[in-house]
Amino acid sequence: MKAFRIYDACDMRLEEVDQPDIDAYEVLVKILATGICSTDIELYDGSMPYFEQGLTKRPMTPGHEWSGIVEKVGSKVQGFQIGELVVGDISIGCGRCENCLKGMYHLCHNRTELGVIKYDGAFANYLKTEAKNLYKVPETISANEAAMVETTATVTHAVQKTGIEPGDCVLVYGDGAIGLINAQVAFACGAGKVIVVGLKETHRDLLKQWGIHLINASDLDVVVEVNKLNGSLADVVFEDTGNPVAFASALKVVKPGGKLCVLSITGQSTIPIDMDYIVTREITIFGVLASPNSFKPALELIASGKVDVKSCISKIYPFDETIEAFEYVKNVKDNDRIKVVVTQEAEVD
Ligand SMILES: [Zn+2]
Ligand SMILES: [Zn+2]
Repeated sequence: MKAFRIYDACDMRLEEVDQPDIDAYEVLVKILATGICSTDIELYDGSMPYFEQGLTKRPMTPGHEWSGIVEKVGSKVQGFQIGELVVGDISIGCGRCENCLKGMYHLCHNRTELGVIKYDGAFANYLKTEAKNLYKVPETISANEAAMVETTATVTHAVQKTGIEPGDCVLVYGDGAIGLINAQVAFACGAGKVIVVGLKETHRDLLKQWGIHLINASDLDVVVEVNKLNGSLADVVFEDTGNPVAFASALKVVKPGGKLCVLSITGQSTIPIDMDYIVTREITIFGVLASPNSFKPALELIASGKVDVKSCISKIYPFDETIEAFEYVKNVKDNDRIKVVVTQEAEVD
């Protein structure tokens, strides 16, 4: 089969490799669509801290936002049939350590992430994963849309963790795919007012269609604007940019007693934080990693139409042009860009 393998910074090669062998509990999936995440770009350009930390070793195949068709099932696998469209969790726990036994398999002591840590990912014709990580995709969701389920599951995990209450005012920092889907999931889960804080006007109309406000932070004071829109600061704020400046701003728009949820990695060992602000306002800060136990609600949110992932796919590349697609995401400043998806659908008969 063909796979894109990262050998060094900006050195990714299309290679002929062996199709993975599966054991009794695994499934072989023929990949149909794979989204490009900022994590993939960090793996590609070498900026991913996991290389230095020894978590990720090259050569490796990236790709953790994927959908595909069941090609082969292990002898002990139940509940999956050949030909079914499936998606799968990025985190693959050992199933035995303390955290796995508590259902926190994304924090497994022997941490793995498909397409990031130890497991090869989905910029390939096939991948293997354990059946326990797979979810069937309802027929109303296309293969390309299904490649957005992992992103949706990550923000669903974040929204569940913050325990948004009906009527809450929610602010989302970031107008990329994760921010736009985060805002929709917060709305679908009961937030009364949802506001995206971004740096461009491009998505204002799309957000408006979803009933979501936009504050353009490039020329407005976010604290003033939130007070104008909501009459007070926000109950829950999500930081989806990984930018320390955005983090500092996000903290200052949480109302006393409110919550700040951080989904993005800054790539820096430390960033300055106003601790007194947190203490004197009793602000709760959550860190969120990956998408544990969140694929089912994410699929439900997309299938019910409450979350529009289709509008978040801004460009589709054929599989053979994966390197061009990575270069586009890495280098091209395109205001319209949300999520870029690589498809192999044309190659399926
Ligand atoms: Zn991702
Ligand atoms: Zn474990």
